[in-house]
Amino acid sequence: MFKRLRIVVLLFILVTVALGTWRTESRLRDWQNSLHVTLYPLAGDDSPVTRTYLAGLQAAHFEPLADYFDTEGHRLGLPLLKPVSLQLAPTLHTAPPPPPKSGDSTLAAILWSLQMRYWAWRHDESPGPKPDVRLFLVYHDPARSPALAHSTGLREGRMALVQVFASPADQGSNQVVVAHELLHTLGATDKYDLATLMPNFPDGYADPQREPPIPQEQAELMAGRIPVGGQTADIPASLGQTLIGPRTAREIGWVKSP
Ligand SMILES: [Zn+2]
Repeated sequence: MFKRLRIVVLLFILVTVALGTWRTESRLRDWQNSLHVTLYPLAGDDSPVTRTYLAGLQAAHFEPLADYFDTEGHRLGLPLLKPVSLQLAPTLHTAPPPPPKSGDSTLAAILWSLQMRYWAWRHDESPGPKPDVRLFLVYHDPARSPALAHSTGLREGRMALVQVFASPADQGSNQVVVAHELLHTLGATDKYDLATLMPNFPDGYADPQREPPIPQEQAELMAGRIPVGGQTADIPASLGQTLIGPRTAREIGWVKSP
């Protein structure tokens, strides 16, 4: 009797959680209201360069990011004027769990995702509205880390760990990475070859109709690079050199599937 009751209670909880997740997902995909995104900066090293950069970081630095989604939403026919509303939280002083390296097992990736969600839940306090998406921006001194580890956007839990440079010169390319990871949390997929990093044709090309297709002038945001030669692709210097392609727009619910 008690066993059955326990199963009924557990099933009830499971269905309630699933329904809640489904409701939130469909609310976010409807784009009737702005998506609230909170940015949590933190230092990825103990360099004075990183510390000084974080001390000077302001919400205004991220305005081009919010403006980008306004412009792209408008271009793609989204009726909502301000699709993304950004909030900058105070700098965090605690390190997130280190993400799995390429080559680690699927189990390691699942465990990290669970640890990350728990860590985020403990450290996501910020003024302003409760965020729909949480982006943890880990800043690194470019002199100490000329190449950064992979950033990771998690759809489950709608959060991302984004690796960026603590340098004003890299502000534009940092924002490309932040926008890319934000769209991963909304269900957008990568549109480049994981082995070669070359954009996939046609979905990873900003202008696949162009003749000849290479060189391109812009990058598709989820391809992340501008194909300029058979085996060469440039990293965009700013969001102005990228756009959101039709397939990505469908994946995030901006454009309805035919
Ligand atoms: Zn990606």
